[in-house]
Amino acid sequence: MSYLDVASTLEELKEMSQKYLFNTYGERNVAFIKGQGCYLYDIGGREYLDFISGIAVNNLGHSHPVIVDAIKLQSEEVLHTSNLYLIKPQILLAQKLCDNSFAEKVFFCNSGTEANESAIKLVRKYSKEKYGDNRYKIISMKGSFHGRTMGALSATAQDKVRRGFEPFLEGFEFAEFNDIKSLQRLIDNKTCAVILEPIQGEVGVVPAEKSYLENVREICTKNDLLLIFDEIQCGMGRTSKLFAYQYYGVEPDIMTLAKALANGLPIGAMLAKDEVAEAFKPSNHASTFGGNFLVTRTACAVLDILLNTDLLENVKNSSRYLFHQLEELASEFKIITKIRGIGLMIGIVFNGDAKTIQNKLLENGLLTTFCGENVIRILPPLIVKKEDIDRAINIFRETLSQIENSVKRTF
Ligand SMILES: *Cc1c(COP(=O)(O)O)cnc(C)c1O
Repeated sequence: MSYLDVASTLEELKEMSQKYLFNTYGERNVAFIKGQGCYLYDIGGREYLDFISGIAVNNLGHSHPVIVDAIKLQSEEVLHTSNLYLIKPQILLAQKLCDNSFAEKVFFCNSGTEANESAIKLVRKYSKEKYGDNRYKIISMKGSFHGRTMGALSATAQDKVRRGFEPFLEGFEFAEFNDIKSLQRLIDNKTCAVILEPIQGEVGVVPAEKSYLENVREICTKNDLLLIFDEIQCGMGRTSKLFAYQYYGVEPDIMTLAKALANGLPIGAMLAKDEVAEAFKPSNHASTFGGNFLVTRTACAVLDILLNTDLLENVKNSSRYLFHQLEELASEFKIITKIRGIGLMIGIVFNGDAKTIQNKLLENGLLTTFCGENVIRILPPLIVKKEDIDRAINIFRETLSQIENSVKRTF
């Protein structure tokens, strides 16, 4: 008997999770045991269409054979040696990232929040060396999400995430997103950097306007402020370009990545130009696990697939089709007030309780998440096909009909 045979029903797992796990994720009613492509299978053998991809992580779907091979082969060779020694796949991954972006140097860590911590430290170090101690202020955007550790949390301008953890790191100010005047008002001689998500995710999928990003770039250049793009959710092919900044045609000075970079293994990365990266000298920053053999070998495989197959083309085509089908749905159901997003990062805004809709969609076999105010967010795997989209739209239609009917009955 393996230790996995101990708890075999959903009820047993729920009970044990309540007994042994911190209650940080609330009630959960599904346990998956297998995934294949765009589909997940639960402990009772039921199939679900995965339109959330582990929150923009499993961009190549589940059990992708090339990813499975990379993990298998690397785990038989060596997993980890620490950064006391050179790590070949880490170097090759950095080369691939630089060859395909604005960046010239990469630092590896283990998560999104750590990538943003690295960026916060880097801009402060860079500015200190160039301008002295008094230039440390970082401006982030209202509605942003940059992570849960104290630095990244200090940059995160969402009350529900921050409440209870005061005091925060000094020197953070919040501008209105998509409002250039609001940013201009906050800039003074203490400001060293601006951080933003080209497409805000957690607040309900809010894309930046192109002209806004262009203006932010211009203002940062004029004032010698470093511009950080947090592409942890919107990068890695989600927009149909490898990186969202390429979709917009606006380059940052620093970019942070994590989530989909290794399709499910924990990894984070900070990318920058040489001139900026030089501010970090030996012993200024480090990570024990950062960029180890297993995660970087796997991330190399992810990038090879993104760069050498028609996957990004599939994102473009699937996005067009999905938006079209969703707009049609919106014309049928008054409860949908707006469809917004870019590529395969989409928010469906409801005039009604999105949490209930998300639960009903789950009951009907479609995984989504709700976020912001009454927004259902969908982040399908980038491998999604027309027939998967048709199936998702059918589940939406069935679910929204059920909800409309139950509302009618109560009147
Ligand atoms: C998920 C996310 C993070 C935090 O990443 P973790 O790996 O959970 O620390 C930061 N920024 C954005 C935009 C994200 O979506």
